[in-house]
Amino acid sequence: MLAALLGCGGASSPPPVDRGASVRPYTASTIALSSAVSAPASASASPPARPTTPPRPAAALTAPPIHQWPIPFGASRRREMAAYSLRHYGESTYVLSNPKVIVEHYTETEGASEAFNTFAPDVPDGEFHELPNTCAHFLVEPSGRIDQLVSLRLRCRHTTGLNWTAIGIENVGFSDHAILSDPAQLAASLRLTRWLRCTYRIALGNVIGHNESLSSPFHHDRVPAFQHQTHSDWNHADMVRYRALLARLPCPR
Ligand SMILES: [Zn+2]
Repeated sequence: MLAALLGCGGASSPPPVDRGASVRPYTASTIALSSAVSAPASASASPPARPTTPPRPAAALTAPPIHQWPIPFGASRRREMAAYSLRHYGESTYVLSNPKVIVEHYTETEGASEAFNTFAPDVPDGEFHELPNTCAHFLVEPSGRIDQLVSLRLRCRHTTGLNWTAIGIENVGFSDHAILSDPAQLAASLRLTRWLRCTYRIALGNVIGHNESLSSPFHHDRVPAFQHQTHSDWNHADMVRYRALLARLPCPR
């Protein structure tokens, strides 16, 4: 949630794909290589080999429609994000590369504009009074519209302890239950999360709710006050439900 302004934020998504340079996406060549490595050796006495048909490339997962709605993230905010990363994670960079976690949030607002207006100004956050301001990579609206606020190449402050490696998705609404009960919003949230998860090869178990952040194996923070801090949005029981729905939408193989 963003009301407490600790770690929920927005981000932008480049249409179809805005991958960090080091991301290794699902590609036909990746699939073909794995198939070749695991293919059994052919029997020596078999008839003359025919030309083999190469493995059929897996169909790329189509990105959902994404409305670009970027918050300002210029040079000073990037410098502040690098300084934040140095203080909290020991690495001076604002670049998000090879993300390992997706964190689901809800905004505690009725509309997307309130969330956008919370994240857009680069002012100290209301909880820790640190710069840069909090943000999230995406908003998912009750209508099902997906907004990208921050590039996937940029780190965004949405989840303490995980901002170095996590993509943040803010679902617009006041509770986990409200989002789980809204078919259009839930379908869009699942579609976006599936696309991100498959693009970045993120394990299902690393799609977490904000409230599950402290148990993530990727969680760490050098600042003691941040080491045990989390928010109440998307608790474990609701994320068990969310992940079960996501599991029905596997990645192409
Ligand atoms: Zn949150």
